[in-house]
Amino acid sequence: MDLYLKDKVIIITGGTKGIGGAISRAIAYEGGIPVFIGRNATDGEKLVQELKSDGLKSHFIQADLNEKDACKNIVEKVLLLKKGIFGLVNNAGRNDGIGLEHGNPINFAQSVTENLFHYYEMAHYCLPYLKKSEGNIVNISSKVALTGQGGTSGYAASKGAQLALTREWAAELLPYNIRVNAILPAEVMTPLYESWLATFDHPQEKLNEIVQKIPLGHRMTKAEEIADMALFLLSKRSAHTTGQLLSPDGGYVHLDRSLT
Ligand code: NAP
Repeated sequence: MDLYLKDKVIIITGGTKGIGGAISRAIAYEGGIPVFIGRNATDGEKLVQELKSDGLKSHFIQADLNEKDACKNIVEKVLLLKKGIFGLVNNAGRNDGIGLEHGNPINFAQSVTENLFHYYEMAHYCLPYLKKSEGNIVNISSKVALTGQGGTSGYAASKGAQLALTREWAAELLPYNIRVNAILPAEVMTPLYESWLATFDHPQEKLNEIVQKIPLGHRMTKAEEIADMALFLLSKRSAHTTGQLLSPDGGYVHLDRSLT
């Protein structure tokens, strides 16, 4: 099936590894041009070379999304490719464990700033070019926005706000035919997930416990399965889908608990 992504420039924040890395690869293999953003230059260049060795196009921009003017500068650099901007995948984020009881207002504000603001900034600076391309935005949120987790108020608030902004932007951008959708991963093995698991005394036991509660197949969702959902949302194949919050999670969040 042609997803009509050939030569389309799509920005993926945090697109060098984990879920973002899988989305970058998937876009490249569909003939699109992923432009991935990350702080670590080695990781970024490695991915460019990996894709190049398969004859695929991509670009890496080294940036810390939390630095002043980073998002504006990223968009300016992407425009130098002279191919416009067709898509934005807001993905970079960190479950930083700023809780209610064991957090404080300063750290909470910082967590929300770091997890949420660049989603808005990237969308804001990409907007004039998305209007030209009638492109679209995919926000990567989290199941935590719906279920809570405990001990992570800043991250949960940011992830919830990303869902609200998905609907808000979908509504605001209707006149431009720009679609906005969100994906809510639940349990996906990535560098971020591994570091979260490592905070438990018995990580393997914790993992076995979680996996047993995932109804479909009793297994983790693969990053590639999140990427496939993102590709469909980015593609004109989903031309009448907007403002949707999708959970590719093996039924983890929405199915009856007695099924596990
Ligand atoms: P990950 O393995 O930590 O990868 C995150 C990526 O973001 C990396 O490429 C990292 O690269 C980049 N990044 C992080 N902060 C950045 C910043 N300030 N500026 C630029 N780049 C930055 O994370 P992941 O598990 O794939 O998570 C991706 C998204 O999915 C996040 O929004 C997360 O909340 C969400 N999610 C994941 C899960 C899961 O099970 N894994 C579940 C629910 C939601 P550098 O280190 O080079 O900067």
